[in-house]
Amino acid sequence: MESGMLSSKRLLPTGECWCGCGAETSIGSFFLPGHDKVAEAAVISVEYGGAPRFLVQHGYGPEGKNPRQEMAKLRPDGRRGRRSR
Ligand SMILES: [Zn+2]
Repeated sequence: MESGMLSSKRLLPTGECWCGCGAETSIGSFFLPGHDKVAEAAVISVEYGGAPRFLVQHGYGPEGKNPRQEMAKLRPDGRRGRRSR
């Protein structure tokens, strides 16, 4: 599941939501439901100024890789690789 990720370091939930809201999470969760998207959007905005530059910086976009195709390769069966219950 973790193979192919940029970081090989194993990440462990800390019991507090990683988006920075300060809320407690359930055992084994990094985020409250939906907060992973908040965190992603925030980091993309701060670090890249928006999704288009974020894509291009990582080799995606009209002249690069197709995000949907890459996602399909990552999860060929269409299942979500993340446990969020
Ligand atoms: Zn949060």
